[in-house]
Amino acid sequence: MKHILMAISGPAGVGKGTIVKTIIQRREDVVESVSCTTRAPRIGEVDGTHYFFLSKEEFLKRIEENDFLEYDEHFGNYYGTPRSFVEKTLESKSIILEIDVVGALNVKKVFPELVLVMIAPPSVEELKRRLIGRGSEDEESLKIRLARLQYELDQKDKYDYYIVNDDLETAIAEVESIFDGTK
Ligand code: 5GP
Repeated sequence: MKHILMAISGPAGVGKGTIVKTIIQRREDVVESVSCTTRAPRIGEVDGTHYFFLSKEEFLKRIEENDFLEYDEHFGNYYGTPRSFVEKTLESKSIILEIDVVGALNVKKVFPELVLVMIAPPSVEELKRRLIGRGSEDEESLKIRLARLQYELDQKDKYDYYIVNDDLETAIAEVESIFDGTK
C-alpha cells in the first residue's frame, strides 16, 4: 500500500485530537509527525518522541539547509516540520500532521502530495456557542477565536476531504478509509 502524508486541520474543539490519537493507537501503519522545536523539554518529554529538541543554531542551520516543510515562531521559540523525518518515515508508514490551516497549506506548497483533511463540527453555530459559553475569554480574544474558527472553515475548498465529526467512530472510519485508499 502507498504511504501518504496527511494533514488534519479544523477548528479548536472539533475533536481532531481524539480522532488522531485513536487512529495512531489502532494502526501500526500510521504515525504522527514529530516536530522540531527550540524550546526546552518539559518534564516527561522525550527527545525524538514528543519533539526533536534543537538549539537555535541547529534550527537556523536546518532552515538554511531547507529541511523544514514549514516552520513558525510561537512564544519566542521556533517550531517546524522536518522534511528529513517525513521522507524517511514515509518509506515504511503513513504520517499524520495535526496542524493548523495556514501550516497545512504551507506544507502543500512544498510537498504537493500532501492529503488535506478538514474536520468540521456538525454545527458551526453550536461550536461558537460553546466557545462563548466557556466564558474563559475576554471579549477581544473571543472575537479573535471566533474569526479564526470561521477563517479555518472558509478554507474548505482548498481541502481534499471535508469530514463532519457528527459521530466520532464514523469520522474515524472516514479518515481510515483515506489511508486504505477506499475513500
Ligand atoms: P508547545 O510548546 O505547547 O508544545 O507548542 C506550542 C505551539 O507550537 C502550539 O500551538 C503547537 O501547535 C505549535 N507547533 C508545534 N509543532 C509545530 C510545527 O511543527 N509547526 C508549527 N508551525 N507549529 C507547531
